[in-house]
Amino acid sequence: MAHSSSVVVEPPRFDRPEVEVRASAKRKKTGAAHWSGSRIVVQIPARLKGKERSRFVDELVERLMSQRPQNTAGDASLEERARVLAELYVDGVEPASVRWVTNQRRRWASCSPASREIRVSNRLRQCPEWVIDAVLVHELAHLIEADHSSSFYELANRHPRQSECETFLDGFALGLGLRIEAADVDVGGED
Ligand SMILES: [Zn+2]
Repeated sequence: MAHSSSVVVEPPRFDRPEVEVRASAKRKKTGAAHWSGSRIVVQIPARLKGKERSRFVDELVERLMSQRPQNTAGDASLEERARVLAELYVDGVEPASVRWVTNQRRRWASCSPASREIRVSNRLRQCPEWVIDAVLVHELAHLIEADHSSSFYELANRHPRQSECETFLDGFALGLGLRIEAADVDVGGED
């Protein structure tokens, strides 16, 4: 039949990345989903329409996202990731600890230069890994330069997607209805 297949790309939302939906007439009942970079590709039966289609897509996306073998899934792997990034971009600076926290309402992440602790908001777990990476590099740079000085940005911007990350997080905050300061991940004093 003529309406055999189609591809639609749904833009990223606050709760999920960009999703490419491939509808195929060859699929009768089952779907499939996989990651392609930071995009999720789902394959669904072409016969699904409207709400049934969105529900089917949502389920596949959620299942894949909950299974994601993120290299930053737990505190230990987040810290390990930070150490790798420190070597790559921030002169091998060493944080005392790097962990996920649930109590940051106005910031994506924070760093205490005195205790060398880095805390990353739980909300970023939903973000693509390059965003988490850019935020970690930002916080690691604070271990060397506490203020947002030009030498701070020289360090932080060694991560090539730093400004793209800010744009991403502005949109992410908007989607979540959060009042997070624009243009920086950790400006704004205490929570
Ligand atoms: Zn900062």
